[in-house]
Amino acid sequence: MSFTLHGAAAGGGIAIGQAHLISSARLEVAHYAIAPEKTELEVMRLSTAVDKVRAELQELRRSVPAGAPAELGAFLSLHLMILDDAMLSHAPRELIRSMRCNAEWALVLQMDQLVAQFDKIEDSYLRERKADVVQVVERVLKAMQNQRGHPSPASAHEESMVVVAHDLSPADMMLFKQHQYAGFVTDLGGVTSHTAILARSLDIPAIVGAHTARRMVREGELVIVDGVHGVLIVDPDELVLAEYQKRQRELEQRRQKLKRIRSTPATTMDGTAVDLHANIELPQDVEQARKSGATGVGLFRSEFLFLNRDDLPGEDEQFEAYRMVARAMDGMPVTIRTLDLGADKTVNGSARGGPNPAMGLRAIRLCLAEPQMFMAQLRAILRASHYGKIRLLIPMLAHAHEILQSLAMIDRARALLDAQGLPYDREMKIGGMIEVPAAALALGVFVRKLDFLSIGTNDLIQYTLAIDRTDDNVSHLYDPLHPAVLHLIAHTIKTGARMKVPVAVCGEMAGDATLTRLLLGFGLRQFSMHPANLLAIKQQVLKSDLRDLTQPANKILRCEDPEKAKRLLEKLNA
Ligand code: PEP
Ligand code: MG
Repeated sequence: MSFTLHGAAAGGGIAIGQAHLISSARLEVAHYAIAPEKTELEVMRLSTAVDKVRAELQELRRSVPAGAPAELGAFLSLHLMILDDAMLSHAPRELIRSMRCNAEWALVLQMDQLVAQFDKIEDSYLRERKADVVQVVERVLKAMQNQRGHPSPASAHEESMVVVAHDLSPADMMLFKQHQYAGFVTDLGGVTSHTAILARSLDIPAIVGAHTARRMVREGELVIVDGVHGVLIVDPDELVLAEYQKRQRELEQRRQKLKRIRSTPATTMDGTAVDLHANIELPQDVEQARKSGATGVGLFRSEFLFLNRDDLPGEDEQFEAYRMVARAMDGMPVTIRTLDLGADKTVNGSARGGPNPAMGLRAIRLCLAEPQMFMAQLRAILRASHYGKIRLLIPMLAHAHEILQSLAMIDRARALLDAQGLPYDREMKIGGMIEVPAAALALGVFVRKLDFLSIGTNDLIQYTLAIDRTDDNVSHLYDPLHPAVLHLIAHTIKTGARMKVPVAVCGEMAGDATLTRLLLGFGLRQFSMHPANLLAIKQQVLKSDLRDLTQPANKILRCEDPEKAKRLLEKLNA
């Protein structure tokens, strides 16, 4: 039966394909059916992996050194207990037999159930133990991955599959970079959650906040993902299917046409040059950035180097990564943002920080609390600056002392490199992100102490309107046109221009073609966005005349009625 679900549009375009249900993509397991005569073999595969992990944990417990903290032994015993609990050791075997599914799938299904039970526990210590359950399951999955001769997952036809999940973390989305799925749908998530941002960076149609998709859609069902309007159509009839196939072809034609302006300089009709830079998450994204015609990297979200791994990348590994990007951009600016870990981006094994992670020890707050980790990154960035035009960008600043402490740390890193005779760019520019309303309202110290500013509109909107960007329950309140948001953005751009401190916008607003003229009218000349959006923004720049924009932009800025502001924006874009 055909039905439609609505969510938030998180990645443009239209995808048509078979639904592929994912339980917990962080564990990114394959989901495939097992032939009836092979189910016992599959059960054995699981048992062998569990035995192997048990032996590993026992060995680890035996080798705990005498002086080690008592918690270490207790922690390993807890993991052994979890491993042998019937919910994990027995139930998945039954699932393999009854559902005829592969062992990984059964294990993750069972884990999801357990985790859901933990979520209901009142006691916060016990509730947090769900992280241990996940870790144990990950160990078993890893053991299965390493088994020789294990059948290859059903990864064939990925291009015609649409992933449907309850929730995907940013770390999960990173894993999908290695895949070629046609589209994504998640029940949870806001439009500017990092999960949605990464879906856009994959340049495939995506919907977040579809609420019940994971429950209502069946494996293998034909679905249409309209990533432009945030609509999911399940089991469409022939007419609807034909209509969407037509729209898909039209969108593709438009995309191909846009490629023609790839190497056209981004200059307005009145001759003003505008910088269009790319946002990247991993060094390999630089290829897509170059292909899009970006004239620099305006935001390298360096924390993504830290996800999906059990250890932290050291100074040398980071240095190699940053140097690779600097070299690949061949003299064009590369803006490396220092670690923005915390909130929805956590490293393996660490729990989400504090009762309210978005307001907790995140980004620069975390870095200043962990000077050793911060210093390794600062040294790596400085060393890489010798090989290209690197700029360093500090996220989530709010206080003068955070700026001063960060600058002092950078000076210390320089002194250490000098003492070792290691080269770095002595002119490397240092900038700060304007993402907290307090920063936008107290710009004095920012423009005095920093070389450039970059407005992170995703967080600026989150903190100005008090809406958690990862929570789809409040995503209808996300409004880039809210007068308070526009005021903070315009004020920052205008103050930067007056004080001769360059200002960029690197949040999702920069990649929204309906807002390009408004931002140009406020005086913005540097935009940084996902490469997939770059040509559409360039098209807007090419057909804009700044002389026509300032007055209407200021009118929108003064407008307190949201509906009227929308109408004025439509007029500006007409
Ligand atoms: C922002 O907040 O707008 C931004 C660019 O940073 P991130 O999305 O990574 O938080
Ligand atoms: Mg941010």
